[in-house]
Amino acid sequence: MSQSSTFSTKTKGYPGLSSTNHGASVRSHNKVRVAYFHEEEVGNFHYGEHHPMKPHRLTLTNNLVLNYGLHRKLDIYQPRKATEQELLDFHSSDYIDFLKRVTPENVDSFSQCFSRFNIGDDCPIFEGMYDFCQISSGASLEAARKLLSGGCDIAVNWSGGLHHAKKFEASGFCYVNDIVLAILQLLRYHPRVLYIDIDIHHGDGVQEAFYTTDRVMTVSFHKYNGDFFPGTGHIDEIGSTLGKYFALNVPLKDGIDDQSYTWLFKSVMENVINSFRPSAIVLQCGADSLGCDRLGCFNLSIAAHGECVRFIKGFGIPTLVVGGGGYTVRNVARCWTYETSIIVDTELSNDLPSNTYYDFFAPDYKLHPKLSGRVENLNTRSYLEQLRTRVFEHLRYLNGAPSVQMQEIPPDIQGFLDDDGRQDEDEDRNPDRRHDSYVEVDNDFYDDDRDIDQDGMEIEV
Ligand SMILES: [Zn+2]
Repeated sequence: MSQSSTFSTKTKGYPGLSSTNHGASVRSHNKVRVAYFHEEEVGNFHYGEHHPMKPHRLTLTNNLVLNYGLHRKLDIYQPRKATEQELLDFHSSDYIDFLKRVTPENVDSFSQCFSRFNIGDDCPIFEGMYDFCQISSGASLEAARKLLSGGCDIAVNWSGGLHHAKKFEASGFCYVNDIVLAILQLLRYHPRVLYIDIDIHHGDGVQEAFYTTDRVMTVSFHKYNGDFFPGTGHIDEIGSTLGKYFALNVPLKDGIDDQSYTWLFKSVMENVINSFRPSAIVLQCGADSLGCDRLGCFNLSIAAHGECVRFIKGFGIPTLVVGGGGYTVRNVARCWTYETSIIVDTELSNDLPSNTYYDFFAPDYKLHPKLSGRVENLNTRSYLEQLRTRVFEHLRYLNGAPSVQMQEIPPDIQGFLDDDGRQDEDEDRNPDRRHDSYVEVDNDFYDDDRDIDQDGMEIEV
């Protein structure tokens, strides 16, 4: 269990689901300080009439948060937009330059770039697209900095979580990867950052960025059949070089239910956190893993989705909570409102408060509508147990692996910038190196004794 617990973990379960206080070392007299980042304007952008990504879900969420009175327990911040320079901490300059300049009006003159930057039906050019990216990523950056400064215990940005965006291109409705940018900030002072992704889609952009480092562990629970977007996330994707065993994938089949998901999530995450000992966590709460999602195929209730947030919160580690996917907008708003209430330890009535968008929540007007049972559960008990066994085999190679002491200060962001320069030089010498999508993390700081490969513990996975 983490020794870095700093805040209270009072747990209040939604009826029907057990909530586990799993023994985190906490100071119960301390109130959790929660910073909530919301820019009103973010809900006004439109990807296009028939596009499933609806930024309006963020307006709906904030509307419920306020009408439930949760703002009284939040420190609410209006974030500033990310600067171009900040976006360049991860993304390539030609890609960001393209995003900055292209508009629906001048789109024809850029059409030759579309395949290069993966622009198309999933990632269209829409009015204000660059502003939208700056707002979403600016909020995650500010949230990360608030955590770094000790100004909060948990920071929330529901407009973030755009986990598919790549260094050089857009993907899966995502243009700028706010998560990678936020993790880069956290790495300025945190030796190890854990990324957890409960979106129904594999968190490929974040995994790829940190695939070769042992300072960021990525864990993604997602539907996988080799075909479902984005097509990655096989259990054998475990990271490479220094990052070997620091990427973990939990591939699931259609229709997973509350009990199976929370059982698997808790047992895997408890093991991960005890082994990796992160000093900061980023939790991506994509709501397309809920039952009845327009693009999803799981059976999760809002209570079970929220139980994952409650469980991670219970470790008392500084955490950035971000949104992600979620395409049945009324349920996205319900889910992220409920999860905000978990973060601030407040029970909410199942009857929604009267609010501007009340009609969206017909016919039941409840916080917890029935979302399960639409899809047959193809995850048999034996499949899940085998999956857990495989995951635990991977995790065995993490035990005791990180050697950086918690009190040591890792290199600041300049270390990454310096590494970018080194990487360019390396590529000049060896153009076949395929490191160009990775974030190079300065590991000179570490002793060699945590290099698990050197211990001769190779396994076939
Ligand atoms: Zn998704």
